[in-house]
Amino acid sequence: MVYNFAAGPSVLPKEVLLKAQDELLDYAGSGMSVMELTHRGSEFSSILSKAEATLRELMSIPDHYKVLFLQGGASTQFTMIPLNLAVGKKAYYIESGSFGKKAYTEAVKLSKVIDFEPISLGSTEKTKFDRLVKAVGKKENPHDECAYEINEIDPDAAYVHITLNNTIEGTAIYDLPDAHGVPLVGDMSSDILAVDYDVSKFALIYAGAQKNIGPAGVTVVIIREDFLPKKEILSSMLDYRVLSENDSLYNTPPTFGIYMAGLVFDWVKAQGGVKALEAKNRKKAALLYDFIDQSEFYQSPVKNKAERSICNVPFTTGDQSFDQAFIAFADEKGFKNIKGHRSVGGMRASIYNAFPYEGVLELVELMKTFEKEHTK
Ligand code: PLP
Repeated sequence: MVYNFAAGPSVLPKEVLLKAQDELLDYAGSGMSVMELTHRGSEFSSILSKAEATLRELMSIPDHYKVLFLQGGASTQFTMIPLNLAVGKKAYYIESGSFGKKAYTEAVKLSKVIDFEPISLGSTEKTKFDRLVKAVGKKENPHDECAYEINEIDPDAAYVHITLNNTIEGTAIYDLPDAHGVPLVGDMSSDILAVDYDVSKFALIYAGAQKNIGPAGVTVVIIREDFLPKKEILSSMLDYRVLSENDSLYNTPPTFGIYMAGLVFDWVKAQGGVKALEAKNRKKAALLYDFIDQSEFYQSPVKNKAERSICNVPFTTGDQSFDQAFIAFADEKGFKNIKGHRSVGGMRASIYNAFPYEGVLELVELMKTFEKEHTK
């Protein structure tokens, strides 16, 4: 038995893989592999529209939002978002993790050639992003880089960019920040469909597929219609208006990835939907965090319990050689990819929707065994 704790690409539901295997050579009696279907044909057309309809239902996406299935990964969105939404305006960024920092850094690069002003509202990089940047009414400490004063936000700004789940550092936003009425743009790459967020609170949501949606290669963008650019921008491939007018078929979309995403959406529905999966994810995460918290051997780098991610659980023994030994021990026993991201070290258990509760139970047993063997 292998448990895959990878942060992405990551474990997919067995039922989905079996169905895909079944349809790989002959899709719905067409005599063609699902991978061979033209994106302009009726078979793929229904795969695409069904995937969209199921996602809309799962996330209660209001009718005045467009749903796009794109390529380029979540990282391309770091450029597309300001290019489409921020020209001539200010755009705010909250840097509570490595990907939030990347989003800001890419925006700064773009601002050298496009007229807009990216502004960072704060960063927790100094403490290795072990906490979230918080909003305060009045800055209690003007040197506190972890806090921004909401009254400082220009209400005419294009957006405030946030990362809902910090995949590398294991923190997450469960209460949306006060953005002073400025539209929220959310990177939901690592907890889309795992946490029940209210889509209507966002102007735009984006997510790479490779954690809770399907194989790498698809990026989901959900955008409120009034945020679509009104006129042509730099490139059609980067233009939300063009992509949405063509229903994600402006060029050849990642057809197989969209098909797989559709199967995962059906699976999420069969599990009882996003609320039910969030409850399961909370149970899995609580099991692991509770064990870590009572242990004197393991620790969580995220001290504020309310900010702990239920999708990515980092932990450490506090001793690099023990951490390395644990990773090797776990790997040998079939607990794969539990090594933490190279920027933070230690271990990280990514326990997305498709990761089973039993896998977390067994991980806790493994941690107990390792602890016994390494303490007197
Ligand atoms: N944002 C978050 C929160 C992520 O976890 C990742 C990847 O893991 C990215 C952005 C970048 O995604 P991609 O590799 O699809 O560009």
